[in-house]
Amino acid sequence: MSHSEVAILGGGPIGVEAALACVERGLLPTIYEREAIGGNIQKWGHVRLFSPFCLSSSVRGRRILATAGHLLPDDDSLLTGNEFLDQYLKPLAALPELAGCVIENTSVLKIGREDQLKGDNIGSDKRAASRFRLLHEAGGKQTIATADFVLDCTGTFGNHNWLGSGGLPCLGEDVVSGRIHYDLPDISGEDRDEFVGKRTLVIGSGYSSATNVVALAELSESDSATQIDWVTRSPADFPIALIDNDILTERDELTQRANRLANDSQSGVNWIPGYVVESLRLTQESNDQIEVTLSSVEDGQRRTLMVDRIIANVGFRPDRSIYEELQVHECYATQGPMKLAAALLGETSADCLTQTSHGLQTLQNPEPNFYILGAKSYGRSSKFLIKIGLEQIERVVLGLG
Ligand SMILES: Cc1cc2nc3c(=O)[nH]c(=O)nc-3n(C[C@H](O)[C@H](O)[C@H](O)COP(=O)(O)OP(=O)(O)OC[C@H]3O[C@@H](n4cnc5c(N)ncnc54)[C@H](O)[C@@H]3O)c2cc1C
Repeated sequence: MSHSEVAILGGGPIGVEAALACVERGLLPTIYEREAIGGNIQKWGHVRLFSPFCLSSSVRGRRILATAGHLLPDDDSLLTGNEFLDQYLKPLAALPELAGCVIENTSVLKIGREDQLKGDNIGSDKRAASRFRLLHEAGGKQTIATADFVLDCTGTFGNHNWLGSGGLPCLGEDVVSGRIHYDLPDISGEDRDEFVGKRTLVIGSGYSSATNVVALAELSESDSATQIDWVTRSPADFPIALIDNDILTERDELTQRANRLANDSQSGVNWIPGYVVESLRLTQESNDQIEVTLSSVEDGQRRTLMVDRIIANVGFRPDRSIYEELQVHECYATQGPMKLAAALLGETSADCLTQTSHGLQTLQNPEPNFYILGAKSYGRSSKFLIKIGLEQIERVVLGLG
């Protein structure tokens, strides 16, 4: 039995499940989590997952919790993010098996190797001769830890893309940033006052933007002064692409509902397809509204809107600064690890549910004993599902030690 130390960066579902798998293998995991367990999921905790509980939890996790006497959700229940945390992930992290393994409110800032620089022993297993060094920070105090293996499970949520044309920050995005949400505010709950009676611009054509548009439309049903503009870059007939025969009914219903709202002139949703944002400007002359200048992707024609709030659901990207002193081969398009990105490029289905994990080899990169798992392994792609991360864990952790 090995007693190798495994540093797990991030206490989301993949970090916690990986730690349990490590314990089962006789490894010594430590989870470093910058907030509390499930910190990213908590930020959208009011939203319901599309995938049923059995796809978002491992057989191992369910077994250990059941043995410890926890009442688990039904396999097919669709939990909100908060329910998933309270009924599964937090109890999992609090199990005696992980006692002393979870360090919360601690951010990992950088990882390197003891006695080796990034350029030493290029692509060689000799790098494994020295341990990893982790610089982490808690309450303003920085500390160094060491480990034999590192699993970077820090996700991408919270590290947003920019909303301007070409993926750049649009002119004025930095100045107006205090009025922009890049995530999923609780529009019908605790953030209601921020949106009720206001005009909100939603940007994006994924499920997050659909969720936000539907919530805003519900708000406008009870308060007709609430207005919604929805800008999408594609000039297609519908804002959100439908998945044929989608078996995730919650996702299918959301897509259909958002598309209906966009195409219904009475819905209160002003859908503006085929435009990108050129600039944002705060105007004192009209009650601190934001003047938004859009330009058409087809002919560059400009139009302006005056709005109070902006929700930019334009995706997230991995924080690569954590491992910049290591030898990580990244994809130049997605910024995910190269071999996995290349395998994902071969995927033809638009449905992330049909994907499976691509095997240990695709998760390896030139830096020995360092793995990027979970949502971060998909780089900028939003197609990751917890189910895939659970498969990655089985492949990687089996080979550690
Ligand atoms: C609205 C919404 C709905 C979704 N619905 C589903 C669904 O139905 N099914 C599904 O499978 N997936 C769904 N997802 C995707 C899901 O969130 C991810 O699959 C899952 O959370 C990824 O898990 P993870 O552990 O890789 O990353 P995360 O859950 O993002 O966890 C990463 C953790 O790392 C921590 N962290 C970040 N940086 C550092 C650092 N430097 N040091 C220490 N800790 C750090 C974060 O605080 C966080 O707790 C949804 C996502 C959103 C936004």
